[in-house]
Amino acid sequence: MTKKIAVLPGDGIGPEIVAEAVKVLECLKRDYGFSFEIEEGLIGGAAIDETGGPLPESTLKLSKDADAIILGAVGGYKWESLDISIRPEKGLLGLRSELSLFSNLRPAILYPQLAAASTLKPEVVSGLDLMIVRELTGGIYFGQPRGVRTLDNGEKQGYNTLIYKESEIERIGRSAFEIAQKRNRKLCSVDKANVLECTELWRETMTELSKEYPDVELSHMYVDNAAMQLVRAPKQFDVMVTTNMFGDILSDCAAMLTGSIGMLPSASLNAQNQGMYEPIHGSAPDIAGKGIANPIATILSVSMMLRYSLDEPGLADNIDKAVNDVLDKNLRTADIYTEGSKKVATEEMGDAIVAAMKKNMWDSAGGIGNPEECARSGGMSNDEY
Ligand code: NAD
Repeated sequence: MTKKIAVLPGDGIGPEIVAEAVKVLECLKRDYGFSFEIEEGLIGGAAIDETGGPLPESTLKLSKDADAIILGAVGGYKWESLDISIRPEKGLLGLRSELSLFSNLRPAILYPQLAAASTLKPEVVSGLDLMIVRELTGGIYFGQPRGVRTLDNGEKQGYNTLIYKESEIERIGRSAFEIAQKRNRKLCSVDKANVLECTELWRETMTELSKEYPDVELSHMYVDNAAMQLVRAPKQFDVMVTTNMFGDILSDCAAMLTGSIGMLPSASLNAQNQGMYEPIHGSAPDIAGKGIANPIATILSVSMMLRYSLDEPGLADNIDKAVNDVLDKNLRTADIYTEGSKKVATEEMGDAIVAAMKKNMWDSAGGIGNPEECARSGGMSNDEY
């Protein structure tokens, strides 16, 4: 069945990196027979300029009707002085809540070829492949009551509420158990059950839920220890599941282990596995328009989309392999460049990944066709492949 994909390039480097992701999708259509329709929409600053608001009704409708959404990034200097209620970022938050995207998947993968780019010792991080599942629409970021009040003695007091219903914990728990089933079947639930009653309930609910997933090994860890273990021995983890705020912090920490923000994709899913897929980085206004942004995080977001929303794990594997292949070929955008490798621009990196996908297809077909033609149509010179 033809899938509907909403494409929201956004601001800054968004349009540049999304263009490369679309090339990958076009390759899947042309060479792998993957049937989809793309419709583009405005979001963030681009939408503010055009329509006066960061999330136009047409974009919301397009996104609701789609099987999945690919998003570039939003924001930039130009819109920083606007009132916070109509800034570009509101477009993103609006989509998350309108589509009930409660499950945020943040993989942290370190390609062995980039081990030197991490701030940690290569032996600690090389081969790292973990997934953090963060609850995205509840917890202390949304809990009521919240605010800043003035006490009787005139002193101000700020307060927020950490609140989770059993059903919310169960919902994110299921998401995490199902992801663990598709990976190495180890799930670590992170909480602060020794201090916070709310996360005591979190732990009890996860334990109860684990009875339905006997093939997944569940463990529990306090968040302070989890932060320490992430930098001490991150490879012990397969999948981690945690609350909105703990996940916010731990996933940034895990991202840093891998060295470059330009390599990491993310997914935000709802109960129907409809998802929004985006790189974890922002719109990088400092390099926008220069053609040097790394498109790999966005291309890997397409891979996640195929795996988690569109049920096409084989096509996702192909993209992941192609990314690995170009790194093996020593091609690097500026953010991951090290001496001795070949520096390439955004478009060249996208073309190289498409060429590697075509080469993979040619290999798996037992060498039918002409690989040079494949490489040429992917935009690469023949000596690259
Ligand atoms: P950023 O992630 O945009 O950039 C941080 C640094 O990483 C910059 O030096 C940038 O050049 C670099 N970088 C980011 N992505 C890169 C890529 N693909 N290739 C090479 N280098 C890359 O974060 P920031 O500078 O704090 O924020 C810039 C704007 O993005 C702000 O308006 C912010 O609100 C917005 N933002 C948006 C999102 C989103 O759309 N999901 C997320 C974070 C920040």
